[in-house]
Amino acid sequence: MPLTELLTLYPLAFVVSALILGLIVGSFINVLVWRLPKMLERDWQAQARDVLGLEPEPAAAPYNLLLPHSQCPHCAQPIRPWENIPLLSYLWLRGRCAHCKVAISPRYPLTELACGLISAFIAWHFGFGWAAGLMLILSWGLLAMSLIDADHQLLPDALVLPLLWLGLIANSFGLLVSLGDALWGAVFGYLTLWSVYWLFKLLTGKDGMGHGDFKLLALLGAWGGWQILPLTLLLSSLVGAVLGTVMLRLRREKTSTPIPFGPYLAIAGWIALLWGGQMADFYLQFVGYQ
Ligand SMILES: [Zn+2]
Repeated sequence: MPLTELLTLYPLAFVVSALILGLIVGSFINVLVWRLPKMLERDWQAQARDVLGLEPEPAAAPYNLLLPHSQCPHCAQPIRPWENIPLLSYLWLRGRCAHCKVAISPRYPLTELACGLISAFIAWHFGFGWAAGLMLILSWGLLAMSLIDADHQLLPDALVLPLLWLGLIANSFGLLVSLGDALWGAVFGYLTLWSVYWLFKLLTGKDGMGHGDFKLLALLGAWGGWQILPLTLLLSSLVGAVLGTVMLRLRREKTSTPIPFGPYLAIAGWIALLWGGQMADFYLQFVGYQ
């Protein structure tokens, strides 16, 4: 039996495959979240030196998503392949470096686990097919962006823009909504937060959010159409209120750190994409409209 037929006939096989794939991708997301901001900063510094007419920095060792190989941040011991199995290695090593026994942050296995569970859920929700495949890519992208934004208050164009285009291309085949709805979703997504930004700036003289947030809402509109924008904004403030309170309590010592808006938008948009229709129906029934 060909693999595609197997995965269509046995949804559980697809869910389990997605779980395993998600754990592996989660491991790669850990690398991406750690290295991409550093790679971008190197680029910006090189560009700034160029603009200022300074000599370029002497060539440093290559630093990209593949090189140098992963190593323990404490003792610099290279991580061997069998110590790099998502989730299992962490449990096997009891959360410590095999060489120097320094504790490894639980954030890495948790990211892998979250990515695995999200992927399994997408597989279960959509079943085997194009929709599941593309929604997996979107979900992985949103997870990576959220973590980078939480760490650095930065939503890299290198992640946001390709996914925005992918949403438009997918909807040109009618994946989730029509191409027209997707296009206006991207336009209004951008303009909504752009307007909020300028209104806030004119009134208070401060920057309320980053330009990355406009692009992220445009991305979500490109996937779910303009219809998901109101629900996404409503949910993002709810998610923000809940998670923001929890996080402020967890790290009381640095309450002045700006809380990035990107993760809330990403979570809200993801929920709106998956259940927006049902939530709207429920609301209309609730207010007695249907
Ligand atoms: Zn070590």
